Amino acid sequence: MTKVFHFDAARERYHCDAAIVWCFDNRFHLGFAKFLKRIGIEKSDVIKIAGGAKCLASPASEAEREFLLQQIRTSIRLHDTKLVILMVHSDCGGYGGLEAFGGDSGAEAQHHEEELQRAAAFLQGAIPEIAVQSYFVDFEGVWAVETAKEIAGIAPS
Ligand SMILES: [Zn+2]
Repeated sequence: MTKVFHFDAARERYHCDAAIVWCFDNRFHLGFAKFLKRIGIEKSDVIKIAGGAKCLASPASEAEREFLLQQIRTSIRLHDTKLVILMVHSDCGGYGGLEAFGGDSGAEAQHHEEELQRAAAFLQGAIPEIAVQSYFVDFEGVWAVETAKEIAGIAPS
C-alpha cells in the first residue's frame, strides 16, 4: 500500500446520537448536513441506501428490509444508539421520481408521509425499545412527520 492522504481521526468509541436511514441522492447532501446540525445530531450512523426509509416501508424485497434492520441493530449494539431517524425525499429515484406522481408535489408529499408512517410502524414493531423520528425532505426544506407514537401498535406480524 502507498499512503496517499493524511488525516487525524478520533480513536475513541462513541455513543451515536441517531442512526439515520437516508437516500444517497447527492442533491440533498448539504441540506442534510445542516439539518443534522440544527437538530443537535453530532454523532450519527448514517445508513445511506437508495430510497432511504422506503426500504422499511415498501422494500423491493424482504431481504432489503432485513439488511437494513441488521444495520440498525448493529448501530445499536456498537454505539448504544437510542434514536433512529427515518427520511425520504422528493423526486427520489427509488420511487420513480416526481414523475411517478404526475409531477404533483402535494400528492408525492402525502404518499411519502404515509411511507414514513409505514416505515416507523414496522421499525417500532421490530425494535420496540428504539425511539423513531421521521422526516420528509423536499427542495425547500425538511418536514417532520408524526409517526411512531400514534401507530406504534400497528406492527406487521
Ligand atoms: Zn432518493
